[in-house]
Amino acid sequence: MGGRTVIMPSETTTTIHQHCSVCKADFDMDVIKQGSTEDVLWLKCPGCQGFLPYMPKEDLTDAERMPDEQKVALEDLDVEHAKEYAEDQEYQIGEVLHHRSWNDFGKVVAKDKLPGNRRTIWVQFIRQGRVQLLEGVVH
Ligand SMILES: [Zn+2]
Repeated sequence: MGGRTVIMPSETTTTIHQHCSVCKADFDMDVIKQGSTEDVLWLKCPGCQGFLPYMPKEDLTDAERMPDEQKVALEDLDVEHAKEYAEDQEYQIGEVLHHRSWNDFGKVVAKDKLPGNRRTIWVQFIRQGRVQLLEGVVH
């Protein structure tokens, strides 16, 4: 489907479904007003009555950037040379990882950044599918 609809202020009440990190829950939030820049909307959380900026879902934009998901099979991966995944390590596209908790192998297919300068890798796992994991985390 196409991109996101731009929501214009109007007389009718507009709500956007978004997660509130304070309430740790999802709500249909009222759109309060358009911010000073065209692409910022403010929402009011019905749970904590707090205001928060509307954040387009990260996974949506990532999905749009991503090439088509390709399944990987065990025989496609050089599992003997797989690296153990750890969030404080850094990885290169094409490297094979082993995720200990899931006991799953995957290949790094892309690298990405999240707000706050957090670096991530996209890994295509055999069983889990495509998963975004943190890398280079400094503790
Ligand atoms: Zn809230």
